[in-house]
Amino acid sequence: MPILVFIESAEGAVKKSSAEAVSYASAMAAQMGEKEIIAIALGNEVPEESLANLGKHGATKVLQVSDERLNQGVIQACAAVLHQAMEKTGSDILVLAKSSLGDPVAARVAIKQQAALASNIVALPNLDEGFVVKRSIYTGKAFTYVKLNANKKILAVKKNAVDLKEDGNPVTVETFEAVLSDADFNVKITKVEKAEGEVLLPEADIVVSGGRGMKGPENWGMLEDLAKVLGAATGCSKPVSDMGWRPHHEHVGQTGIKVSPTLYIAVGISGAIQHLAGVNSSKYIVVINQDPEAPFFKAADYGVVGNAFDIVPKLTEAIKASKN
Ligand SMILES: Cc1cc2nc3c(=O)[nH]c(=O)nc-3n(C[C@H](O)[C@H](O)[C@H](O)COP(=O)(O)OP(=O)(O)OC[C@H]3O[C@@H](n4cnc5c(N)ncnc54)[C@H](O)[C@@H]3O)c2cc1C
Repeated sequence: MPILVFIESAEGAVKKSSAEAVSYASAMAAQMGEKEIIAIALGNEVPEESLANLGKHGATKVLQVSDERLNQGVIQACAAVLHQAMEKTGSDILVLAKSSLGDPVAARVAIKQQAALASNIVALPNLDEGFVVKRSIYTGKAFTYVKLNANKKILAVKKNAVDLKEDGNPVTVETFEAVLSDADFNVKITKVEKAEGEVLLPEADIVVSGGRGMKGPENWGMLEDLAKVLGAATGCSKPVSDMGWRPHHEHVGQTGIKVSPTLYIAVGISGAIQHLAGVNSSKYIVVINQDPEAPFFKAADYGVVGNAFDIVPKLTEAIKASKN
């Protein structure tokens, strides 16, 4: 039975989290002795060449539903297409990335397919005990192991939990004809407002974040310079936004934005539990803090003990130099 993978896109490109979902499906197929991994992309915004490149991550075939109404990511319409694709391809397993679109789509497809659903999955299933998946809960502080008992299964994979497979070859992209009615498009995005020229924090692959250790808003230039050379978004701790040093939409943590970038650089942030709750899904955490006892170092992959005002400009210059 083929494994189906739902591909999400943003601004005309396949999302990295969806490429990870394909890699996950590929590794799972190898475990199960399955040969076919079918990726399905909805809408017509992603160029065919990019879709074909999903073969590098393990897809054996790509289906595209080129209905431009699907570019908007309407939950009901996406679920209708994936339900039809599972039926037509005979897939018993749907893999997708856990996301604000992936989760509700997965729930709807699970109802239509009477499938077992698990989200926020961080490891390949254990097939020795049936089909047991490991899920991250409490913002990465704990895990649960869940046995999926139904024949049909839907797996939403957590961002950055899977290594990206890169050694495959491009594959053919075929058209998939889905039957959709106006009733499937019961929601329409009428307007998108996006901060010009900024990397959006929730989507960012790299985040440079500052805390009270930055002393004041006038010192944020050095963090913005670092973010610029890295193509990163900027974030901050709660007190920083409460004091009006930075806008509230940059506040990261339990009561702010939860991020899961590949790299989170925390500068002058102590690492209170409420801040960590928003960042501990990051793949790598780098902490720059002058206090070697700062709690953030316990959650860090790499730490620099020292004065941010010395270290950050040097880091920025070193990255610039390495790019030249
Ligand atoms: C209900 C509740 C919800 C909360 N939600 C959030 C949340 O969502 N997000 C959040 O961030 N906080 C949240 N908080 C607040 C949280 O508990 C901490 O108070 C806050 O995260 C601390 O922010 P900070 O690390 O910037 O400041 P501080 O705790 O003051 O830490 C500043 C750090 O900067 C270092 N430093 C100082 N000078 C330098 C220098 N020159 N170079 C390098 N390092 C330096 C210090 O050693 C220190 O570790 C919440 C609190 C509560 C009670």
